[in-house]
Amino acid sequence: MRSSEEASAGVDFSFGFDTDSGYRAPSLETESSVPAPVGSDAALWETAAHVADPEIPVLSIADLGILRAAYYSEDGVPQVVITPTYSGCPAMDAITSNIRRVFAQHQIPEPAVQLVLSPAWSTDWMSEAGRARLEAYGIAPPTGKAAAGRVHLGMAVKCPRCHSLATEELTRFGSTSCKALYRCRDCQEPFDYFKVH
Ligand SMILES: [Zn+2]
Repeated sequence: MRSSEEASAGVDFSFGFDTDSGYRAPSLETESSVPAPVGSDAALWETAAHVADPEIPVLSIADLGILRAAYYSEDGVPQVVITPTYSGCPAMDAITSNIRRVFAQHQIPEPAVQLVLSPAWSTDWMSEAGRARLEAYGIAPPTGKAAAGRVHLGMAVKCPRCHSLATEELTRFGSTSCKALYRCRDCQEPFDYFKVH
């Protein structure tokens, strides 16, 4: 696992790509740092945990915190339980599709993918490794705890390039509804901020 210091030294464009055979489409799989929870099948969890988030392909759905469980039902059908990020995110169909494709690539029978809405996902569920990878990708990770309150007045957003705290919000909705567009006043670079929910 890369430390956040290594990760901040520069963006590693090999994330999610096969580097031995030149450029390809982004991989459906990426690293996962989250062990199987109690009640999950270890092998099924490992397969599901490595599925990449369609919008942020350096981040696994386990590190994003949306993968809840993976186990076999009594009749032997793989079950994958995920909790959507927020209603504005259109990625859930793509995530379900990616899970099915990765299972097929590993010769695992097609899973039933269940959406569980409660308890609601929050950015607190994102792993430390996930936050570090977001920053390496040039997206400022969420700061603070969602549970601390719905308003985060005065909370500085750190520039993922130069780490300056002198940043400003340009638009509330960035490239997707999950992200806001910020700009760094020091290095002048715009960047996406993954909003705290
Ligand atoms: Zn900057």
